[in-house]
Amino acid sequence: MSASAFLPAAVNFRPLMFKLNVSSKFVRHCRRHQRFSTSRSLNADSYEVVVVGGGAGGASLSNIFARKSKSVAVIEPNPEHYYQPLWTLVGAGIMNFGKSARPMAAVLPKRATWVKDKVAEFNPKDNTVTTEGGKQIKYEYLIVGPGIQLNYNQIKGLPEAFETPGVGSNYSKLYVGKTTEALQRFNGGDALFTFPNTPIKCAGAPQKIMYLADALWTKNGVRSKSQLHYNTSLGVIFGVKKYADVLTEITRQRNLNVNFKRNLIEVKPDTQEAVFEILDSSETPKETVTAHYDFLHVVPPMSAPDCVRNNKDIVDAAGWLDVDKDTLQHKKFANIFGIGDCTNLPTSKTAAAVACQIGIVKRNLLQVMAGDKPTSVYNGYTSCPIVTGNQKCIFAEFDYNAQPMETFPFNQAKERRSMYIMKKDIIPYVYFHVMLKGYWEGPGIIRKMFRLGMA
Ligand SMILES: Cc1cc2nc3c(=O)[nH]c(=O)nc-3n(C[C@H](O)[C@H](O)[C@H](O)COP(=O)(O)OP(=O)(O)OC[C@H]3O[C@@H](n4cnc5c(N)ncnc54)[C@H](O)[C@@H]3O)c2cc1C
Repeated sequence: MSASAFLPAAVNFRPLMFKLNVSSKFVRHCRRHQRFSTSRSLNADSYEVVVVGGGAGGASLSNIFARKSKSVAVIEPNPEHYYQPLWTLVGAGIMNFGKSARPMAAVLPKRATWVKDKVAEFNPKDNTVTTEGGKQIKYEYLIVGPGIQLNYNQIKGLPEAFETPGVGSNYSKLYVGKTTEALQRFNGGDALFTFPNTPIKCAGAPQKIMYLADALWTKNGVRSKSQLHYNTSLGVIFGVKKYADVLTEITRQRNLNVNFKRNLIEVKPDTQEAVFEILDSSETPKETVTAHYDFLHVVPPMSAPDCVRNNKDIVDAAGWLDVDKDTLQHKKFANIFGIGDCTNLPTSKTAAAVACQIGIVKRNLLQVMAGDKPTSVYNGYTSCPIVTGNQKCIFAEFDYNAQPMETFPFNQAKERRSMYIMKKDIIPYVYFHVMLKGYWEGPGIIRKMFRLGMA
């Protein structure tokens, strides 16, 4: 850390300089380079901007505010950052896990202080957060982006069943490799794919792995002796009609059996059985149905992280960070903004949505810091590249009203190889090289270009 980090502008350093034999030229040099030094402030644990989480939203916004504010701290416990959208392809055995990971130090800004700890508590009334390590960190402005929590333990028999063959989950770095193993050792029989009864991140991912399994097993000859079942707690295959129609047709043509309103509640690895609650059952308790599996892909129930949902001051009734859906500013605390999966924004939780939210939080927080009201409005843009088979993808993009908001001047509901390349190669490149550095706010500008500037 450079000495200049400790030099407040208003202090007279002459007596101290004399004692320490420091030249005034050196002090001027430190002042000039102050903004390039590490951003630790005078008080060791007090910062102008604190960012919780170094994920898709947190890393991008900390890079932006490291350039625009006096001091920034990022609180993030993990030594690695993951681009999770690649885990669909990792689980399917198409990509190596390593391609999705970067050292956290490489994605966080050098001009911010990285607090390698987890936030345990938010104390919004005194503008502090407390970490699990017991540190109190003070902020003037807070950006909350700790993502979503995977609650595997809410399903009886998990996570133990991951220790048995045939069970995997693309949603966790711990179990995505199990999906690959299970897909490859599958030799026909019953394959089950689940979608839980909570909001989740990337609502397309639970079915993407089914299409990739279908393609793989067709190629290696086991598809003809297997039955594939997609058991979803939802009542539709996808929330946007345009894409749902196409997906329904794909499942029909490929003989993929879709069961609606089925929620996984138990896995019995000894007998290779999965128990589903029938959500539209009129009985109390609800009726259940038990299905045998030879392959099981589990998507766990999810919630906001405990540190968020346990603080009633900052969450809505369902436990999500309670932000204004237009401005992303917290509804009660004007110096707090939310980003990404932990929020109650009524849109599909994706990294693509985060990209658009970055621009909104950037502009609105800068306005608040300048003493103005936030005026940038988020339209709920989100996107889900649904890989539907070997090098095939339909590219769903839509807004808060579940209306398609497509970037390209062709029908994105059609399966295309170009959109598969977009998902596998182009978007990850943009994510690591542009978005995380704070220079990508979603494809709005490209969409406009294709429409010659028209809305
Ligand atoms: C299998 C899969 C497929 C997906 N496919 C797509 C896709 O095709 N397209 C797409 O756009 N999106 C996709 N997503 C979703 C996308 O990855 C997330 O929506 C996105 O990463 C959310 O960003 P975030 O910043 O909110 O959270 P994250 O990126 O998850 O980051 C949260 C960060 O907060 C940290 N953290 C957690 N708790 C704390 C705490 N208490 N204190 C401090 N830090 C904490 C975590 O370590 C993490 O680094 C997919 C996700 C998965 C799992």
